[in-house]
Amino acid sequence: MSGGEQPKARTVRCPRCGAASLYAPENPYRPFCSQRCQQMDLGDWASERFRVAATPPEDEGDAAEPLQ
Ligand SMILES: [Zn+2]
Repeated sequence: MSGGEQPKARTVRCPRCGAASLYAPENPYRPFCSQRCQQMDLGDWASERFRVAATPPEDEGDAAEPLQ
């Protein structure tokens, strides 16, 4: 690659722990500072989602065979 503008790396605050994190392609976990923070955040999100998740489908149509 050549003649490309190099995007300036920016530093943002990790939404999870508040630490400075690199907001750049080198940081695959952006805007989080680390994989750990990213996973913790996803975990929270997922568990909340599961908490609100629809009730599990009940077994219906447990068809009793009609007596003949
Ligand atoms: Zn963090």
